[in-house]
Amino acid sequence: MPQPLHIILLGAPGAGKSTQSRMLKGRYPLNVIATGQLLRDEASKGTAIGLLAESYFERGELLPDDVMIAIITERLSKLPTGRGFLLDGFPRTVLQAEALDDLLQELNRSLTAVISLSLSDEEAIHRLGGRRMCEGLGEPFPLHIEDTASVEACERLGGHLVRRPDDAPEVIVERLRTYEAETAPLMDYYAQQGVLHVISAEGEPEEVQAKIIGVLEQAQAQPASS
Ligand code: AMP
Repeated sequence: MPQPLHIILLGAPGAGKSTQSRMLKGRYPLNVIATGQLLRDEASKGTAIGLLAESYFERGELLPDDVMIAIITERLSKLPTGRGFLLDGFPRTVLQAEALDDLLQELNRSLTAVISLSLSDEEAIHRLGGRRMCEGLGEPFPLHIEDTASVEACERLGGHLVRRPDDAPEVIVERLRTYEAETAPLMDYYAQQGVLHVISAEGEPEEVQAKIIGVLEQAQAQPASS
């Protein structure tokens, strides 16, 4: 039996993490834990954590580390043995990464690969500026307003387009700045552990997916910790 996959997807907002996660979920037996989506779900339910999250979304800032670490600890602790995970949006700070290392050690799991999707700021701004979420058809998914075929399909099937509040232009700039300051240092952190793989996020999602699968197959064949 192959070892369960333990994947972290890093990448600036707009790099396509959620699109890639969805595609990988269909291919491997793993749970996707997408912290941003999780917080947006809480916000739409109006829970305490959701209300807290909204105040950070508006500013394009990160929630406190201890809140996020508690969420991930709960989720990963409940994961059945033999089932893998893909983290989309966590960790986002070195402190979160350190806490995750401790947790994984406790759970007797080790990272298969950290995949960093790289994208120019120009492309990130273009993608986020035109991004809308198609809601009302199950799990919300992103599309670009210039992709008229997807826009029409969303609406024809009874979905509706919503712009995430944090995709407003002034917030986008702040989110990219936050990524550079807080999250980009994780590349060094994971490079030192020998698990980092940087992949260009330019191009079609299928091309990016093929590169990710290549990395995962290689990492599974040669586990970093052995
Ligand atoms: P995302 O959907 O991954 O772009 O996340 C949306 C927002 O959720 C971020 O801009 C943060 O405010 C918050 N968020 C998601 N994940 C984390 C995390 N690991 N640490 C702190 N804040 C987070």
